[in-house]
Amino acid sequence: MARYVGRFAPSPTGPLHAGSLVAALASWLDARAHDGRWLVRIEDVDTPRCDAAATDTILRQLADCALLADEAPVFQSARGAPYQAALDLLVAQGRAYPCACSRKDIEQALAAAGRSHERHGELVYPGTCRGGLRGRAARAWRFRIEPGTVRWTDRRLGPQAQDVEREVGDFVLKRADGLWAYQLAVVVDDAAQGVTDVVRGEDLADNTARQVQLQRALGVATPRYFHTPLVLGDNGEKLSKQNGAKALDTSDALSALNAAARVLGLQRQSGSVGEALAGWSAQWRDFYNRPGD
Ligand code: GLU
Repeated sequence: MARYVGRFAPSPTGPLHAGSLVAALASWLDARAHDGRWLVRIEDVDTPRCDAAATDTILRQLADCALLADEAPVFQSARGAPYQAALDLLVAQGRAYPCACSRKDIEQALAAAGRSHERHGELVYPGTCRGGLRGRAARAWRFRIEPGTVRWTDRRLGPQAQDVEREVGDFVLKRADGLWAYQLAVVVDDAAQGVTDVVRGEDLADNTARQVQLQRALGVATPRYFHTPLVLGDNGEKLSKQNGAKALDTSDALSALNAAARVLGLQRQSGSVGEALAGWSAQWRDFYNRPGD
């Protein structure tokens, strides 16, 4: 089996919050428990929403918590060439196509077909441009989904299934504004970095079937997946930058880590941050590294 490689892949749209530390800690512990390598990838593809100050803050917050990567971080904003190469490959295989539809066009096509418009705030693409642009100008590039149900097994959530065509539709690889989409960037980078294990928040689990389809089309391996529990805010909704989650205070790193560890079902630790991390590493080995994991 390939040597374990894990990663934490924050988007620098703001500082880490309590929920992001859960994903970072779990991913770090899982890598340590497997004697693997742990990488940090800065997912700054959505350049207008990202900034260098947030990147600096995130790296400092991780350092405060002694969650140090084994290599210098990779920045997605510098990886246009491999994303383009992947898109070119998909186009050559007939698995990606240009799309001329605006949001309004998609809404109208869905209404005409009597189909539901949205799922998690995203429009299900009805495949309008699959057959060609019919004289309209290309805006975005989309991935042509294979029909059928994608099945995958999450190490925490168990067996999962999604009919991507019905629930999501052909999704965007390169956006109308010229930016690369998260789905393409994450799949290309996980493959390029040899990531064997993705450990991330449960809010991202719903993307996995799309990513599995892309991995198959690009001929790269599918990593194992472990989606961590989410931290809920006072209103019962998951913490996110979008709903105003507070920046994580790492001036008392042990308290921040203890809060994250509790969400993961790990016992409270005292002493230095290093001792606490060693204690949780041992607990993680016992909890999550069942034979075959
Ligand atoms: N960059 C994504 C985020 O911050 C995470 C991507 C991933 O772990 O696959 O939500």
